[in-house]
Amino acid sequence: MRHICLIDDDIFVRDAIALGLGDAGFHVAAAPGAAAGLDIVKGGGVEAVVTDMSMPGTDGAQLITQVHALFPDLPIVAISGSSVIEGRDALEIARERGAHAVMTKPFRASALAVVLNELLNARANA
Ligand SMILES: [Mg+2]
Repeated sequence: MRHICLIDDDIFVRDAIALGLGDAGFHVAAAPGAAAGLDIVKGGGVEAVVTDMSMPGTDGAQLITQVHALFPDLPIVAISGSSVIEGRDALEIARERGAHAVMTKPFRASALAVVLNELLNARANA
């Protein structure tokens, strides 16, 4: 089973995505914020990270920078609504910081599962 770390401050989004990814065969460790998420990633065994961009405290862009610095090969998927950071599109910033894929909310968890499988398969075949 593939282990995913999911970080989103919105409990409804977090629960919905965790449930959907679970149905798609993923094991999901969910965190409500960047600090808790980073602890999970540092704990090991995580094969991909899904993170919200807009969060109180350490935001998604900062988290992506931290994860990418520690684990450059770990796939990261950034998820965001139409949020704007300093006048720029949050998902554009996510790509710059090292996210491997970005998705705009709302989306189906099954679509995220497809993206994760593609990233994980590409990594396995690299
Ligand atoms: Mg948020």
